[in-house]
Amino acid sequence: MRFAKPKVLIALAVIAAGMLIWAVYLTAQKRAADDVHATAERQLRMIAVDLESLLERYETLPFTLSFHPDVIKALQHPDSSPTLFALNATLEAIQRQAKVSAIYLMDREGHTLAASNWNQPLTFIGRNFAFRPYFQNAFAGDSGHFYGIGNATSEPGYFIAQPVYAAPAVRSGTPIGVIAVKISLAEFEQTWRSSEDPIALADRSGVVFLSNREAWRYHSIEPLNDAAQLALADTKQYAEKSIAAISSLPKADSAGFGPYVGKHVGRLQWQLMLFPSMARIQRAAMYAALSAALVIGLAAISLLAMHQRRRRIEERLESRRALQQAAEELERRIGQRTAELLEANRHLEDKYAKLQETEQLLRSTQDELVQAGKLAMLGQMAAGITHELNQPLAAIRTFADNAVTFLTRGQPDKAQDNLGHISAASARMGSIIGQLKGFARKSQNKVARVDLGRAIEASIMLLETEFRRLDASLETDIAEGVAVSGDMVRTEQVLINLLRNALDAVDALDEAGQRHISVSLRREGDEAVVRIRDSGHGIAADAVAHLFEPFFTTKPSGKGLGLGLAISSSIVQAMNGQLSAHNRSEGGAEFILRLPLQSSTSRQDGSQLVSA
Ligand code: ADP
Repeated sequence: MRFAKPKVLIALAVIAAGMLIWAVYLTAQKRAADDVHATAERQLRMIAVDLESLLERYETLPFTLSFHPDVIKALQHPDSSPTLFALNATLEAIQRQAKVSAIYLMDREGHTLAASNWNQPLTFIGRNFAFRPYFQNAFAGDSGHFYGIGNATSEPGYFIAQPVYAAPAVRSGTPIGVIAVKISLAEFEQTWRSSEDPIALADRSGVVFLSNREAWRYHSIEPLNDAAQLALADTKQYAEKSIAAISSLPKADSAGFGPYVGKHVGRLQWQLMLFPSMARIQRAAMYAALSAALVIGLAAISLLAMHQRRRRIEERLESRRALQQAAEELERRIGQRTAELLEANRHLEDKYAKLQETEQLLRSTQDELVQAGKLAMLGQMAAGITHELNQPLAAIRTFADNAVTFLTRGQPDKAQDNLGHISAASARMGSIIGQLKGFARKSQNKVARVDLGRAIEASIMLLETEFRRLDASLETDIAEGVAVSGDMVRTEQVLINLLRNALDAVDALDEAGQRHISVSLRREGDEAVVRIRDSGHGIAADAVAHLFEPFFTTKPSGKGLGLGLAISSSIVQAMNGQLSAHNRSEGGAEFILRLPLQSSTSRQDGSQLVSA
């Protein structure tokens, strides 16, 4: 429906243009017809004036001649050859001078007595023209006029006749004869040849006798009735010709004009007619209509061009507007996005703060856990340690008793020996207690240089009793001076935990089982690697996936809490290290502890879990 309107407009415009062109055509046709008719009228008037003057020029010639004494004399003496001969010569001379077709004299019977063409084969002499109206009129005392085809010569002509009286001055009574002049209009007709439009001269009854259209000559404008035909035959006006109507007479035009302009000329009430060319009118109208069409077409084209230009400008404006809108939309979206991002950032900051809090909590929890694990381990080791301390204590008691005995016996040397033993035993106890104190102490989590070899030795020492109790052999292969960054106590805690698990593993073996544990320390690349192997049954298949999870244990309750590996792994991770385990092909488990060597570690604070 959106496009229906312009279509209707275009249709209306086309109809309007068509009507306008048609109006221009009609107007132009009317104007052209007016012009053409005006021109035709003018031309016709000129032709009429020419014709009138031609006819009038000779009007007086027969009248003048009727006074001529030779004429009168000839009529009075028609048998006198010399008289007639002289007249013939006179008439011929006048005819030549006046440039008329013929001059001739008839007696009262209509017989031609003398003629200017007396010496020509078709001479009028001897002929009788009494039947001609001009003779009859002239004989009746009037002047006679007639146009017709010559009875003798078959040439058409205009005849003017005057009566001749015996006493010309009086001009009364019966005429003694008639003198006539024949004028040819052929030359006059010739002047019409140049006219493009048909020109015709018709007599009173509508028979065309002069025309620049050959086919029109001796044809009537309208079909003649019988009476008219009879009258023509009587006067032999057009000889024996039968007069038919003109077949292709131009039709009346549409501008309201008749087919011709007409004018009466001469004494015979001739009708002079000029048929202006309709084609010229049509042509003029057509040119005007074409020009109008051209102008309208040009106007339409320029309107179209203007319209398109405007549309293009509108489109450009529209696209600019759209662009601006898009830019605004983009800006709005960017604003929105920025706000969202700011919001998200704020959330993130919140979360980060919470995370930091959590981390703090986690770290302190971990510290607690480490401590708890350590205390648990101490509890587990308590029996062994008690035994360890009991032994030197019992020895001390024995040595002291012995020393007392030796002193009473007066053997101070031996007593001194025993005192020396006591001192050694108590020193050993002191060192065990010192180790325990150090281990039990809540670690300050200080980063320091940890000599891994020494840590391994200290751990083994704390478990010596266990090794002995279980009759487990220990093999160590410790590289010298391997140091890492971390906390001594925590490192020992990891090692003791791994060793205790190894001891538990070999403890599970029956009597026949080989109870063997090996510990090695090596440098591998920029790492310190501790391997603890045992000859136990290895890690149970369903335990592998859960080994480092807290509270995961396969041991009977009271023996294991399932915290050892979980705590150890978190301590190792905090030291940027790695703790892994696998079963060995030859049986038993192997735990591998990897820690960055001190020189190569970049992290000074090994306890950090989350990097800021
Ligand atoms: P717990 O020793 O209290 O059970 P751990 O976390 O130290 O807790 O050990 C978890 C589990 O890992 C043990 O219960 C055991 O099943 C397995 N495991 C640890 N060390 C060894 C080992 N050397 N040989 C076989 N299994 C082991």
